Amino acid sequence: MTAIRYLLTFITAASLLVIVAIYTFGPEALERAQNRVAGDKGAEPSESTQTLHASLEIADLHADTLLWYRSMLERSDRGQVDLPRMLDGNMAVQMLTTVTKSPSGQNYDSNSAEAGDNITLLALVQRWPLQTRNSLFARAMYQAERLHDFAEDSEALTVVTSAEELKYVLAARESGQETVAALLGTEGSHALDGDLDNIQHLFDAGFRMMSLQHFFDNKLGGSLHGESNAGLTEFGRQAVLSMDAMGIMIDVSHSSPQVVDDVLNLIDSPLIVSHTGFKGHCNRKRNISDDLMHRIAERGGLIGVGFWSEAVCGEDTDAIADAIAYGVQTFGLDAIALGSDWDGAVTTPIAVNDLAFLTSALLARGLTEEQVRAVMGGNTIRYFLNQLPTTD
Ligand SMILES: [Zn+2]
Repeated sequence: MTAIRYLLTFITAASLLVIVAIYTFGPEALERAQNRVAGDKGAEPSESTQTLHASLEIADLHADTLLWYRSMLERSDRGQVDLPRMLDGNMAVQMLTTVTKSPSGQNYDSNSAEAGDNITLLALVQRWPLQTRNSLFARAMYQAERLHDFAEDSEALTVVTSAEELKYVLAARESGQETVAALLGTEGSHALDGDLDNIQHLFDAGFRMMSLQHFFDNKLGGSLHGESNAGLTEFGRQAVLSMDAMGIMIDVSHSSPQVVDDVLNLIDSPLIVSHTGFKGHCNRKRNISDDLMHRIAERGGLIGVGFWSEAVCGEDTDAIADAIAYGVQTFGLDAIALGSDWDGAVTTPIAVNDLAFLTSALLARGLTEEQVRAVMGGNTIRYFLNQLPTTD
């Protein structure tokens, strides 16, 4: 009996230690393994490149920073984005997307909607509030709340929900203030928890971009990496119409080709592909056809070029610059933007503080100063000023 009691005490103590260790070191270890900066950054930017870079208004369409267990306001040696590094890199406008479900065994070819979910585990290890256990909507709202809390604690970070607010931050930057505008978006509208009323609730919480799918088919329609390849469902049609009427920008990144086609036929507003590469440049399952990209671009849409190898078929900054140059040449200058996917469980050659390396690589590709200004942020800012709701 005594031996058994000792054994049980030992097992209990060991289990407690493991749990304490998971909660203490788990979040950091998880992120270190997921969001890595590695690969050739390229040549050190010259003095004239740095001068040009410092004069750019830079914007990025996709970063999942709010998913991770660290303050955006503190400089970190893990992950790819935080406010101090944004200021170092001269970032002006960052779309922050909220991931709410990610299937275990996630891959670019085929994922089941019924597969286990990695975010449930992440939420547990990172001690998210209880309501995020069973509600994807609560997960999006929790990440939004984190952003609003960060912005409240720093004058250098402003959550932007209207064209006027964006103009205000840009004017402050123009006058020399070090400050960044952040916008909120969903990654996959399973975050609605199947309830159209939640579009209004997310809008009220500041969300201004919504992507329709992520890695699996959902109630709105088929994913590019799902099992059905289906188009928009009736629920999906209603959701898109309601988002569009509210002034929410629609992101078709990760959506099936049929969903993209259906959305193009359903609404007149220009679409966003927030993080992607180009099939004609990098023939991978992650990238939709150039034909669809042409239709999106012709309608005034915006295409954010991703920074990770599965999107641009290369692990260095030159590969990102190649994809951008291909995009400009093939789809026109106005359509091309940055869509890093930073902190989205990807390895990238540059973090946000390294953006001058990209400016340098674009110039080396032969892009003109005007083209560099447009793709680094000018296009996204023009698009946002046109598409965001106005307060007057
Ligand atoms: Zn993504």
